[in-house]
Amino acid sequence: MVDLNGLLADVRLLVIGDPVAHSLSPAMHNAALRHLGMPFQYGSLRVAPEDLVAAFELLRSRELIGWNLTLPHKLESVRLMHCLDEIAENLGAVNTVVHRSGKLFGFNTDAKGLEIAVEEAFNRPLGSMRVAILGAGGGAGQTAARYLASIRVPLLYLVNRTVEKVEKLAKDLSSGSSSQIIWTGWDRLPEVFAEVDLIINATTIGLDGKGADIKGIEARHLFFDMVYAPGETESVRFARSQGANAVDGLAMLLYQGVLAFEIWFGKPAPIEPMRNALYRAAGRKVPESKASRRQTFRKPESSSQ
Ligand code: NAP
Repeated sequence: MVDLNGLLADVRLLVIGDPVAHSLSPAMHNAALRHLGMPFQYGSLRVAPEDLVAAFELLRSRELIGWNLTLPHKLESVRLMHCLDEIAENLGAVNTVVHRSGKLFGFNTDAKGLEIAVEEAFNRPLGSMRVAILGAGGGAGQTAARYLASIRVPLLYLVNRTVEKVEKLAKDLSSGSSSQIIWTGWDRLPEVFAEVDLIINATTIGLDGKGADIKGIEARHLFFDMVYAPGETESVRFARSQGANAVDGLAMLLYQGVLAFEIWFGKPAPIEPMRNALYRAAGRKVPESKASRRQTFRKPESSSQ
């Protein structure tokens, strides 16, 4: 049963997931809305998988600008959109919805958010790196794998505990990409790591405070943990203890939110207020502002003519 009665009357944006109470998106987006003096709020709504269609029907009758989708709705929502942008269509996953007069337009900002966060952390173009994705068979891992194949990284290892999940994905991606794509289980990690520059953890390991079993990580590696936690994740801590340059996924969450905001409003998002609110809500120290922050906003083609 979907109940919209809990949503405040001034909510025009929201995040939908199950569970969703832990989401940091409301803190981040409400800081942006306040900063720009916009007179409405970003809320959250728990929707069980079996209620997704009914929820979208109800939401389409409300005066909403749009919404974000989180676990477990990103893949299933694709077929409920009236129109998909090219990235969402290629990735087969939607995390940002624009609502216009009852019609739903689906976008995906997770992959670009990952790219900006990786490049900001390690100061190297993502497309130039040899990459291993741990958990490439999960939702976030598959999205990352499709994106990395689309930007043609030279070497892409798809690693998954249930190896059958990445076998078909690797075959699909190999046919449309010049990347060398190899799938494997966790037992070959040291051999895999010997061949890559960047290791992305896209598993749920770390959500319970425990670390990933990442044998073979070396000081020359870059380690990006999509998971984030109030302190550093155990996996980041372990990677750093091996001398690797390691960061967690909070900046990815920030940039997927920044990009979503820019899609909704067609203008640059206030990145620093969003970053400050997000890191505070996560119980983290706000990182120092870097002069080299990436420009995220691109004018839509129609308005640049
Ligand atoms: P998911 O679809 O449930 O996938 C989970 C993945 O983790 C699967 O590949 C699963 O392997 C693997 N896994 C779970 N437990 C494992 C274990 N003990 N050993 C080895 N592999 C294990 O989840 P998801 O939606 O992809 O999310 C994955 C993570 O990414 C979550 O922590 C999520 O918070 C994070 N994420 C972060 C952002 C961000 O903005 N930073 C965005 C999206 C997702 P099997 O296939 O074998 O089960």
